[in-house]
Amino acid sequence: MNILYWILGGLTMFWIVSNIYRRIKGKNKIINVIQDKCTGCKRCEKHCRHNVFDFKIEGEKVIAFVQNPSNCTACGDCLMACKFNALELVDK
Ligand code: SF4
Ligand code: SF4
Repeated sequence: MNILYWILGGLTMFWIVSNIYRRIKGKNKIINVIQDKCTGCKRCEKHCRHNVFDFKIEGEKVIAFVQNPSNCTACGDCLMACKFNALELVDK
């Protein structure tokens, strides 16, 4: 049973440290949509907990754009969700 507590404690510590690291690393960054690559699949919107994205029609395509830039914490969750490399973190 003790080993289970050690494993859970280790995982919790790892989660806390990685979140702190991501926040420090992303402090001066913000998300940007590379519009040419965006397919409008909306995976980024589903994975973002801060209501950053919205969508617009460009010609015959629907593409994501950053609607609420001040909400972005640069956590990178949407980057991992996008399968089309259409997102990047850029300097503010
Ligand atoms: S996940 Fe990527 S391709 Fe899909 S809508 Fe968002 S930015 Fe566009
Ligand atoms: S980096 Fe995080 S907060 Fe910013 S748009 Fe992506 S998921 Fe949302």
